[in-house]
Amino acid sequence: MSIDPVATVDSVPSRSVEVPGWVSGGEATQARLVDSVAHFTHQRDTEALDHSLTLSLAELADARTVTLYKRAGERSGPQESLVRCSRNALGRFNIDLVPRSADASTDLLLQQGERDGGCVRLRDGGYGMLVPIRHDGRMIGALMLESEHPLEMLRPLVEGFARIYANYVGLLDESERDKLTGLYNRRSFDRHLQRQLHGTRPREGEQAGQTWLAILDIDHFKRINDTWGHLYGDEVILMIAQQMRASFRHGDALFRFGGEEFVVLMSAIDREAATAALQRFRTRVQDHEFPQVGQVTVSVGFAVIGPHDYPATVLDRADKALYFAKNSGRNQVFSYEDLRARGALDGDVTAGSVDLF
Ligand code: GH3
Ligand code: MG
Ligand code: MG
Repeated sequence: MSIDPVATVDSVPSRSVEVPGWVSGGEATQARLVDSVAHFTHQRDTEALDHSLTLSLAELADARTVTLYKRAGERSGPQESLVRCSRNALGRFNIDLVPRSADASTDLLLQQGERDGGCVRLRDGGYGMLVPIRHDGRMIGALMLESEHPLEMLRPLVEGFARIYANYVGLLDESERDKLTGLYNRRSFDRHLQRQLHGTRPREGEQAGQTWLAILDIDHFKRINDTWGHLYGDEVILMIAQQMRASFRHGDALFRFGGEEFVVLMSAIDREAATAALQRFRTRVQDHEFPQVGQVTVSVGFAVIGPHDYPATVLDRADKALYFAKNSGRNQVFSYEDLRARGALDGDVTAGSVDLF
């Protein structure tokens, strides 16, 4: 797409064009609109929601392409992304994830949209429109439409869709998070695991790494509760979550699995790098002075995840390494593969310390 950023809709000469039928109203078209909203808010995960949103808009607006730009962030994931619905040679719509780097023209639209959204004339004579998507006053993304027809009159519709989308993304995000800590909850684990295994591409100059799963468990947490009471116990859980946020990288997925057990999904080049990241966290906790409670420590077990491993199998492996750490004096980090290679797991490691099922 090539855009002339100077030509805004104000300078576009008016001409008689065919516009999508629904613009002129009518019961059938209103029903289609409602149906479309119902369809896209039926989705229960963000990826399906993104696809449904772009397709609904492309059909309703009879657009050439509809692109959903998502900024990197807490809600949308570690990388900025583009989902594009475009018409193919047969007139059908295809939906693709477009690499951000392959789409320089987006920047132009975004610069303009940053202010208040707007319409532009495309170099090929088509029309472009950008509508920002805002949540809690922050621009979390944008919708970009390209069409053979002027798009200005579609703006209220697209803005409405952008608002519904933002609200809905907020709701989906809330349902994925633990109330106390704000970390992801266990229910969202499988989805994040798939995303981590198949969704992340190494950045430029970065080697492709492996994905690792670590279980972190607070040592002698019962004692903290028994000595100081549950409110202090909860405070410790909250502070451990903060330490996790401060210690792990932006792209790592952090979970509270329940009680005083946490899970980290992370990318690392090799076992040494994964160990170093987990040791850094363990030391950070050990060195932190928790109000009233004093020193708190964590034990960590971790395992590598292959693209074909069952999540339950990997959780079980990491749990075996954690169990080993607990039995070896706590406040330590162990890798399942390392223990296996050393023959340290031969014998009676059958009962894990974490309640997995
Ligand atoms: P270990 O070093 O072996 O992990 O000892 P531990 O005492 O931490 O181990 P265990 O898993 O047996 O005990 C965890 C306790 O955590 C049990 C429960 O009373 C308490 N607990 C679980 N969830 C919560 C919570 O949300 N808040 C508080 N305050 N306590 C919790
Ligand atoms: Mg525990
Ligand atoms: Mg514990």
